[in-house]
Amino acid sequence: MSAPVRALSTDEAAAFRLLRLLAAESSPYFMAALFATVPVAAPGLGTFAVDASWRLYMDPELLVGPEAWPQTDAAGVLLHEVGHLIRDHAGRGEQLPQPMSHGAWNYAADAEINDDLIAAGIPLPAGVVTPEALGCDPGQLAEDYYQTTQAAGWPEPSPGEGCGSGAGTWASPVELPADVDVDGRGSLSDADGDMVRRHVAEAVREAVEGAKGRGNVPAGLARWAADVLAPPQIAWQAVLRGAVRHAVALAAGQTVHTYSRPSRRRVPGVILPAMRGPKVRVGIVVDTSGSMGQADLDAAMAEVAGVLRAGGVDRSRVLLYACDAATSTAQRVTNIIHIELVGGGGTDMRVGIAAAEHDRADVVVVLTDGDTPWPDTPTRSRLVCAVIRHSKPTGTPEWATTVHITPGRS
Ligand SMILES: [Zn+2]
Repeated sequence: MSAPVRALSTDEAAAFRLLRLLAAESSPYFMAALFATVPVAAPGLGTFAVDASWRLYMDPELLVGPEAWPQTDAAGVLLHEVGHLIRDHAGRGEQLPQPMSHGAWNYAADAEINDDLIAAGIPLPAGVVTPEALGCDPGQLAEDYYQTTQAAGWPEPSPGEGCGSGAGTWASPVELPADVDVDGRGSLSDADGDMVRRHVAEAVREAVEGAKGRGNVPAGLARWAADVLAPPQIAWQAVLRGAVRHAVALAAGQTVHTYSRPSRRRVPGVILPAMRGPKVRVGIVVDTSGSMGQADLDAAMAEVAGVLRAGGVDRSRVLLYACDAATSTAQRVTNIIHIELVGGGGTDMRVGIAAAEHDRADVVVVLTDGDTPWPDTPTRSRLVCAVIRHSKPTGTPEWATTVHITPGRS
């Protein structure tokens, strides 16, 4: 049985401060988050966990005494738990198609954190979840890994086995209501949490800029910081929902099942809406030609992340193309981090649209500075022209959906 959560004792607080120092020394850009996190003692918890209000629950026996974790391991676990808070795994979990699998999301979120910690040389306890252990490529988002972990259909862990509600999984049974104050430090509101995330993202960006060529900031973390500092400008969920409805209406004879039998592992005897959208493929074409600048590409990347995170999008059906008009090719890529500007003059996004349609995309989103010819006649797929430029776009087809993105706005 676990005893109630309490404030840390003097010894435990001293041990925690040492861990925090070790963690801040190895990952200085996490400083703001390490100091914002509210530490409490959770006797009997058996691990460290976080809640969505930035409280860190630590079993005190792992901090002091004969059962204490080695300091370097404990500092690694501290960075891991804080990683869930920084990356907003709680908020992102809510965006998944519901009912979500809490266990699958915890594994996916752990993999997103741990490959960056390992890349940064942070020691972690043996056997931690990594993308490789899940059979995935590293450097992806938790939403990508979730496709794999959810399909694996592992049994759900019971509450208390995961990293807590701050990781977007089951709340640990020891978790306190947000308004309970254990030792005068209270907890963080959503707005406070967003501010800490921004501070950390700015510190990561400074570290990236200071480390040009030395590469000591993990790629996944750098990409995360870029996303936080330049969030997508388009409400992709609404745009895609409209486009998807249209594409489905066109697919003659296709029946859309909005209800299906829920997994037998959950809620026996109760029929829940499976909340599955129709099986729609989304093709994303990114202009990589010479007229696109780095700020344009960064803006495009933020929107790609927005498309991938839009609730209800089946990520295994998202196709991504780098469209290089100079060589008249559209190359299929598997991850946004593989997209680079290739330069060269002239842009023809019709090449990318054709490639996406060849791969049977139902909806095609084109991210371009707009300096391109567009198809003369309506495409078979639903076309979304996402034009990145300072003035309002003109010249896109009337039958397409046009959205406007301002580069360098964050
Ligand atoms: Zn975790």
